[in-house]
Amino acid sequence: MGKKKACRTCKLFTEEDICPLCKKSSFTNNFQGRIHFLDVKKSLVAHEMDVTLNGEYAIKVR
Ligand SMILES: [Zn+2]
Repeated sequence: MGKKKACRTCKLFTEEDICPLCKKSSFTNNFQGRIHFLDVKKSLVAHEMDVTLNGEYAIKVR
């Protein structure tokens, strides 16, 4: 089992080598906080963060 890391672009947590959301491969372990969206269509926070896919996200990445 790999360690989860956060995508620098869309902040999605993943264990893959390529981000399933933005298809980039730039990740960081340097992040602040995490938030889990179960229904992005109903979440105001998800809307503000421009999140369109359910999942776990870092609140801030460096
Ligand atoms: Zn991404």
